[in-house]
Amino acid sequence: MIRTKDHSVIKEGLLTAQETQLFIKEMEEKCMEVDFIGLIEILNKYSLKNINQEDYNDFISQALKEHQFWHENAMEIKINSVQSFESKCIACSFGKTIKAFSVEFRKMNETKLPGRIVYQKSFALNFEINNNELIDFGWCNAFLEQEEMKVLLE
Ligand SMILES: [Zn+2]
Repeated sequence: MIRTKDHSVIKEGLLTAQETQLFIKEMEEKCMEVDFIGLIEILNKYSLKNINQEDYNDFISQALKEHQFWHENAMEIKINSVQSFESKCIACSFGKTIKAFSVEFRKMNETKLPGRIVYQKSFALNFEINNNELIDFGWCNAFLEQEEMKVLLE
């Protein structure tokens, strides 16, 4: 990362254009599988150049938190379905189109109606691309939900 005088940041590519396409495809596949350890494994597989170590560590710690929610949760979560949808970031890269994932699940250990109530939770990744090269990526923590996107597109 290069910081210029006016504090704008010129980021260098983390991957080549070809690797970028594959990387995003593989990351999205793991998201569809709600496999957050798989996401970390992809990071290890590609040698990401010029990566900001702090951002990298943040990404991994959130992946581990998500993994715990879905896979080590005392509520014994059972996933019903996963859908991807196009969304818009409303914070980190305001207005940018991003890919979000909506998961429907049930909590098997719930005291009332165990396993009968269907919940929904979503997550999204933001890939920043310049000249077809990945320059940054991370979790998007504020984006429009599927229903809100429908309203926007009407
Ligand atoms: Zn965002």
